[in-house]
Amino acid sequence: MSDAFDVIVIGSGPGGYVCAIRAAQLGLKVACVEKRATLGGTCLNIGCIPSKALLHSSENFAATQHDWAEHGIIVEGVKLDLARMQARKDDVVTANVRGVEFLFKKNKVTWLKGEGRIAGPGRVRVGEAEYTAKHIVIATGSESSPLAGVVVDEKRIVTSTGALELDHVPGHLVVIGGGVIGLELGSVWRRLGARVSVVEFLDRLIPGNDGEIAKQFERILARQGIKFRLSCKVTGATVNDGVVTLTVEPVAGGAAEEIIADVVLLAVGRRAFTEGLGLAEVGVALDRAGRVVTDGHFATNIPGIYAIGDVIAGPMLAHKAEDEGVALAELLAGKPGHVNYEAIPGVVYTWPEVASVGRTEEQLKAENIAYRVGKFPFTANGRARAMGCTDGFVKILADKTTDRILGCHIIGPDAGTLIAEVVTAIEFGASAEDVARICHAHPSLNEAVKEAALAVDGRAIHI
Ligand SMILES: Cc1cc2nc3c(=O)[nH]c(=O)nc-3n(C[C@H](O)[C@H](O)[C@H](O)COP(=O)(O)OP(=O)(O)OC[C@H]3O[C@@H](n4cnc5c(N)ncnc54)[C@H](O)[C@@H]3O)c2cc1C
Repeated sequence: MSDAFDVIVIGSGPGGYVCAIRAAQLGLKVACVEKRATLGGTCLNIGCIPSKALLHSSENFAATQHDWAEHGIIVEGVKLDLARMQARKDDVVTANVRGVEFLFKKNKVTWLKGEGRIAGPGRVRVGEAEYTAKHIVIATGSESSPLAGVVVDEKRIVTSTGALELDHVPGHLVVIGGGVIGLELGSVWRRLGARVSVVEFLDRLIPGNDGEIAKQFERILARQGIKFRLSCKVTGATVNDGVVTLTVEPVAGGAAEEIIADVVLLAVGRRAFTEGLGLAEVGVALDRAGRVVTDGHFATNIPGIYAIGDVIAGPMLAHKAEDEGVALAELLAGKPGHVNYEAIPGVVYTWPEVASVGRTEEQLKAENIAYRVGKFPFTANGRARAMGCTDGFVKILADKTTDRILGCHIIGPDAGTLIAEVVTAIEFGASAEDVARICHAHPSLNEAVKEAALAVDGRAIHI
């Protein structure tokens, strides 16, 4: 094997593997370095895919127990086979990671197995071997952020990685952090029978999302049995005889109390991962949060070294990493490449789902942008009623003067799919009226999006 490449990508997550494949499609000679035994990064191995597999399985379990009787489907003696559920999740992961390996072969991307280290501009070391490349792409992703006083052992005190692997349903699961990962995995274990409490530093859930949606989300999850302790901070955790004692204090000050948990999930966010890459030696600049600093074309301060995905600024999302991977590959091949950060959707895959794109109402207020709001509840949507899933609403925010859609926030059934229409609308600079005038199939959940767009102008029909 020749050791000279046009592009060497370090990390095979959705940023890295997509960048490698696109660069190879464009005729470049590409290698991708991955230290994990399988390709696909956090997303495919310990993130998006296994979590969605367990969310889907646990949703089926909970629906069989609680919802089907209403439809006249009587199932008695519903039992959980957790080992089988976990095995299925592992099979889903295996199929996905093998898929990436297949795509590498198909596109002639060389997988350099091992830990990559940048030895200097144009030089990457993997173990004892050194390879050269015109362009080096850092796509090393992120890791779970630590919390002082809480030592992870991935058995009793786990990150998302351990929470995806539990071999029993904990009696009491305490989740530290009311963000996306904590609430998704908290939902999984709640549905499977655990008592779940969430301790959150802020006075609200899913920070960064629209506040009204977050409030409704909290109410719905509370109805599902999840307990919330907002405005509280965890200051310590001790493990004794297989039981975790957490010390929790109100953020505003006041007496500390103890919470006893069988398992604690630490989910206070993720941070860029650059350990062992040799960035300090090469002089690649990092920001205060430890992320690689890049310009609008993903270039670092060192010529020939680029970075994409979770390791740089922006939302830590697989599709954001993928789009950056494609844009960078195209730029490296001498083509235009661009990511529109105004149109990146974010989805929480709980039930109901929460999906958003663009600005929140809070952001518009802070930026002094005049806007109009159109809202439509799923209680007034025929399809949602037929499904028996009427929790939630669609909220569209449009510029007061031009009617251009600035943001959309949905909580409700299949919100993650529904949001795609509004992402497309934003990408094409559409107005709320544009969406309102598009013919939507009946009866569909999408009609709620159309009605919310109509509601921006105060003319929703079905409410
Ligand atoms: C539980 C969980 C659920 C999630 N769910 C979603 C979701 O539903 N939707 C969504 O959009 N996002 C989700 N995410 C976030 C998503 O996984 C990340 O945004 C995405 O994986 C980032 O991709 P990346 O390519 O930047 O890095 P990563 O996927 O983190 O991949 C980086 C890779 O680089 C490798 N690496 C690091 N250093 C080196 C080195 N020196 N040499 C060789 N290899 C190296 C690592 O082993 C890793 O495989 C979730 C994350 C978690 C943890």
